[in-house]
Amino acid sequence: MKQKVQTYISEVYNTLVERNPNDTEFHQAAALIFKSLSPILEKHPVYIEKGILEQLSEPERLITFRVPWVDDQGKVRVNRGFRVQFNSAIGPYKGGLRFHPSVNQSIIKFLGLEQIIKNSLTGQPIGGGKGGSDFDPKGKSDNEIMRFCQSFMTELYHHIGPDTDIPAGDIGVGAREIGYMFGQYKKLRKRYEAGVLTGKGLDYGGSLARKEATGYGTIYFVKEMLQDQGIAFYGSKAVISGSGNVSIYAMEKAMELGAKVVACSDSSGYIHDENGIDLDTVKEIKEINQGRISEYVEKHPHASFHEGCTGIWSIPCDVALPCATQNELDEEAAQLLIDNGVKAVAEGANMPSTSEAIDLFLEKGVLFAPAKAANAGGVAVSALEMAQNSMRLSWTFKEVDAKLQEIMKDIYKNCMEAAEEYGKPGNLEIGSNIAGFKKVADAMISQGV
Ligand code: GLU
Repeated sequence: MKQKVQTYISEVYNTLVERNPNDTEFHQAAALIFKSLSPILEKHPVYIEKGILEQLSEPERLITFRVPWVDDQGKVRVNRGFRVQFNSAIGPYKGGLRFHPSVNQSIIKFLGLEQIIKNSLTGQPIGGGKGGSDFDPKGKSDNEIMRFCQSFMTELYHHIGPDTDIPAGDIGVGAREIGYMFGQYKKLRKRYEAGVLTGKGLDYGGSLARKEATGYGTIYFVKEMLQDQGIAFYGSKAVISGSGNVSIYAMEKAMELGAKVVACSDSSGYIHDENGIDLDTVKEIKEINQGRISEYVEKHPHASFHEGCTGIWSIPCDVALPCATQNELDEEAAQLLIDNGVKAVAEGANMPSTSEAIDLFLEKGVLFAPAKAANAGGVAVSALEMAQNSMRLSWTFKEVDAKLQEIMKDIYKNCMEAAEEYGKPGNLEIGSNIAGFKKVADAMISQGV
């Protein structure tokens, strides 16, 4: 059986590579997921008989579109927009929009594939989707951002709706962009459909705690994982890369729970502050002024700024949280962290660790929490935002935060149980993929080909 499963996985994987020859990030995400699924395919050959991996490899729909807009100089600019509607077995497509120059079909497909499993893990009725554009928001005026968002939505609105596909934010898309897109959707649709987008402003249907949810959720997950091994999160030293929405709220919750965060970063480099990062300064630089993280040292001269992003992993710490972007933590960085005694690594960003880095963490017994489990808090609270929109009411911060904590605990428990049941105790990489996959695969079988 083992051999049959390996052959099946290689065949499906090779077809995926042949069909998507240049989509390297998509190959990477698929390879990681497929590898984890061997134990469940061995135990339940029905998933092979029903061709579940073949079906999962191909998005239900992939939409590519032109996004024309006019810049402040009156020049016409054109970007490319994407939406992948990957899998709707357990609910309408759900997933963020990323605006970043690196966005292409491969990035959108890898994120969409991950999202299927992640959304399933939340226990909420949401399928997997993702979208975005190669538009670079950096250096754009507020009016340019608005015109771009309106143009993007003018095409996207044909394909989304509160019961079909519900986008949200991701890198480069926050409450401001969601607001502009929602305004345009409302004009085109001529209806107030609050549930069509999540991550909305609090004045018009947004949920309390959505902004904080991904970062807070990651810390709730880490705390659970450490506690299970008898290790206290309180008093630990943490390095948290990035300084966007995920990183800022991971830092906030980590500090609140008694950890000392000594470093964070942006695409230009990282800051190291052994006294503990002053979060108000980071928020001022990043959330208010959209500045560079290097400005931190102007206010805190005892701290240091270093160019480049990978150096952050050379700082000794107990807990490392990659919260910036994909493939930011490679094998060399993993080795450095291990040499410096790291106890736990949890992914706040999507696929921030390379496959080689993950293998090394697992081999050396470092507690490792993969993104689809550790950062699922964001999309989980998005689903709670949808629920509030449907009921036309709003829960308090405390209520949403309590539900988020429960969800993160459940995800941890379910992933650990799946890992145990399928013969890989403690391996959350395998446990998360199996637990998320099983629900989707069973739903696909129930609904027929
Ligand atoms: N972009 C986030 C993620 O990667 C959130 C998606 C959502 O809220 O729909 O999960």
